[in-house]
Amino acid sequence: MSADFDCIVVGAGLSGLTAARSLQSAGLSTLVIESSDRPGGRVKSDIIDGYTLDHGFQVINRGYPNIKRSGILDELRLTPMVDGAIPFRISGGVHKLSDLSTPFLRGVFLTEPKKVSARIRFEIYKSFLQGRPGFVDGGVSAFSDALARPVADIHYGETVHSIESGVVQTDHARYSAEHIVVATDAVTANQLVASLEVTPMISSTTWYHVSDSHIGGAGRFTVCSTGNVINTFAISDRVPSYAPHGKQLFSSSTLQVTSESEVRRELSKIWKTDTSRWELIARYEIKKSLPVHPSGKPLYSQFEIEPGLFVIGDHRAYPSQQGAMESGRKVARVIIERALRARSQGADNQR
Ligand SMILES: Cc1cc2nc3c(=O)[nH]c(=O)nc-3n(C[C@H](O)[C@H](O)[C@H](O)COP(=O)(O)OP(=O)(O)OC[C@H]3O[C@@H](n4cnc5c(N)ncnc54)[C@H](O)[C@@H]3O)c2cc1C
Repeated sequence: MSADFDCIVVGAGLSGLTAARSLQSAGLSTLVIESSDRPGGRVKSDIIDGYTLDHGFQVINRGYPNIKRSGILDELRLTPMVDGAIPFRISGGVHKLSDLSTPFLRGVFLTEPKKVSARIRFEIYKSFLQGRPGFVDGGVSAFSDALARPVADIHYGETVHSIESGVVQTDHARYSAEHIVVATDAVTANQLVASLEVTPMISSTTWYHVSDSHIGGAGRFTVCSTGNVINTFAISDRVPSYAPHGKQLFSSSTLQVTSESEVRRELSKIWKTDTSRWELIARYEIKKSLPVHPSGKPLYSQFEIEPGLFVIGDHRAYPSQQGAMESGRKVARVIIERALRARSQGADNQR
């Protein structure tokens, strides 16, 4: 009996969308199943009371090859994250060279940089400095929405519970496919594909406050070398559309479990102002923020776990949008080549 689809992609994050775009462009029937109500996975935002709130501090890097290749930057308005020659301000004092890069990289990897492979550290730091990353008008969701736009056949609000012998079981139905691509976070991939090695994921929290009076110079991205807050800045000073006119929206991130009063206390010290009347607009705790990529882990892990069953995502590559998208691109290429070969063999056999 023939399968329902050439491919099923589980998850409409950046890796799944990148794979689905290529597979559908090559003419392969591809169903995407996404448990949430929208595309983008970790790259998403909410608009609440006129504030644009990204789920975590996240920028779009125009230098990433897969972002360039997607061609969607022309549709978006990007404001560079860095204003001027000096990329960021350090709060907490600078005594040696590592006092500069370590706090910045802690905010990128959401862990102590020394726990991350040196190659990944170098590549991502370089891409930040060279790629002119920026904020998207409308929030990072605008990027995900644009990436998803050409993808047909996405089932939102449907969760995959098991995958076995080419059959995907969801809370709604069963579907079969020649190729199945699991494009979820590391923890879910490990539940769906039991033979996969476990990749831990780091958690992070981003706090959005509105200041009761305008703080000058707060649009400069500030990384902190001490305390729980790892970075903070007035995102609405960089991108005014992130807040209603006259309001100043601060984005501040923490890694450890921290109380709101402690965050407020640290922000008072960093911004040298009384923050007791700042309004907390939202708090996003993202339990599965980033996979750990320790020394010794290869740049890419094996994608095909058993014939026809692939696992992609940043945890099979490296922890970034580029890593996630590259895993999707590579696997789509393998599946397309295989499908084209099978089709030409089928045609030969009929002659
Ligand atoms: C706070 C934060 C800041 C970041 N900042 C940056 C940055 O500035 N630059 C950068 O390059 N990277 C950044 N990243 C990393 C980047 O966002 C990720 O590496 C990338 O988005 C991962 O994409 P993915 O497709 O691998 O996984 P995900 O985005 O996790 O997508 C997986 C998808 O699968 C869906 N799913 C899960 N389980 C199921 C199921 N059972 N059935 C169906 N669907 C399911 C999920 O809902 C989700 O949509 C940041 C990440 C975070 C959290």
